[in-house]
Amino acid sequence: MIPVKGYAGAKVAVLGLGRSGLATARALIAGGATPLLWDDSPESRAKAEAEGFTLTDLSRAGAFEDVACLITSPGIPHLYPVPNPLIARALQAGVPVDNDIGLFFRSFATADWDNFETMPRVVCVTGSNGKSTTTALIRHILDVAGRPVQMAGNIGKGVLSIEPAQDGEVVVLELSSYQTDLARALTPDVAVFTNLSPDHLDRHNGMGGYFAAKRRLFSEGGPDRAVIGVDEVEGQFLANQLSMGPQDDRVIRISSGQKLDQFGWSVFARKGFLSEWRKGRQVASIDLRGVAGLPGAHNHQNACAAYAAVRALGIAPKLIEGAFQSFAGLPHRSQLVGEREGVRFINDSKATNVDSAAKALQAFPAIRWIAGGMGKDGGIAALQPHLGPVVKAYLIGHSARDFALQLGQTPHEICETMERAVARAAEEAQPGEVVLLAPAAASFDQYPNFEKRGEDFVERVRGLLAV
Ligand code: ADP
Repeated sequence: MIPVKGYAGAKVAVLGLGRSGLATARALIAGGATPLLWDDSPESRAKAEAEGFTLTDLSRAGAFEDVACLITSPGIPHLYPVPNPLIARALQAGVPVDNDIGLFFRSFATADWDNFETMPRVVCVTGSNGKSTTTALIRHILDVAGRPVQMAGNIGKGVLSIEPAQDGEVVVLELSSYQTDLARALTPDVAVFTNLSPDHLDRHNGMGGYFAAKRRLFSEGGPDRAVIGVDEVEGQFLANQLSMGPQDDRVIRISSGQKLDQFGWSVFARKGFLSEWRKGRQVASIDLRGVAGLPGAHNHQNACAAYAAVRALGIAPKLIEGAFQSFAGLPHRSQLVGEREGVRFINDSKATNVDSAAKALQAFPAIRWIAGGMGKDGGIAALQPHLGPVVKAYLIGHSARDFALQLGQTPHEICETMERAVARAAEEAQPGEVVLLAPAAASFDQYPNFEKRGEDFVERVRGLLAV
């Protein structure tokens, strides 16, 4: 745990008692503060009480008197579409609003660091897609390199739950736009921006607010190195703003598809090969085509982002190449579940929207596509240009019939359930094809979350492979 600094003897309100809220409460107590804990949901309050915490009703009059700060959870709207009523009261009363990320950055460095040979470093990853994959890949490479490393944030555990840093340690944090929007301290050593596509627009009042939230990771603390995906205009703008000119190598530009040989430092993937260029010269190249844990152009973008981040920490290209080969991928993101008679089974249950499903469909040449669930606005109309590799679709869940109408000429079958979809796709698949779960829909009609949906797919596939 990281004891929170700066609030000893003070009252700190904590709104939202999920995983990160409770971790924050413990870290505040360890730092000598008195947390005042509250959650709008009675179930979360009961859970906190069962863990031995005392609650304070922050909705009563005068609750924010003498409160030094309000810490909130990322799931609670702090500004748009409208602030949570308790946050609105804190804003009105002038009580600073912060989150666990802000507390982490003000508390992480300790006096012990004076005796370290190598200062601990913090790498933060943000972007619309690929954050978790990139974060996990950076952790994996550093692990292989023998560097002490911890991973937290939007992935695994809350930031304040990590252990105090050892000599030479690297902490890798995945940060969502909700987290970067609010944190009052954001001082990573290396900051990574993977890409940008519309998401969570209600919480940021549109694309401009969404981009502004992510930009704070670069503008607040001024990282030593910024790794920036320049495949969208926002990334190009950010890279431009952070550098003195194209040769300024504090910015490492990355791309999936573009040749970036005119910059001070760049890493890009084209036709399955990753290249690193410095000052007009190629310094390394890696063949990504056979890397099983990182299939498709979107994962090649993640590979470039992770490569650039660890190069900024001084890791050698040869070592990174070996680490790519041993990266198993994350569950539910282009996860290879198994293979039978030349047919591969891939779980991309995390493809809950059209954008990420499009990436998955571009990653394989011949696909038996399992899709459907709780479709989003517009269904799968936007996937029309990406249906070329789909040999046949096997549709499940609430949107199966809507998706069928939108598929037009593409062969499809309504299967309703995962059980039937897996069985039918496996029965019909030919050697060289891939059976891919990439639903392009939320899971809530049939499952509690996308993880459970992915686990169901994996279980059924493993059942088939065992026979
Ligand atoms: P995040 O943490 O940003 O949600 P993940 O690594 O969990 O990202 O991947 C989420 C979904 O997006 C998966 O379906 C995955 O296949 C897809 N995806 C992964 N990397 C990228 C990328 N660089 N660009 C677009 N889509 C991606």
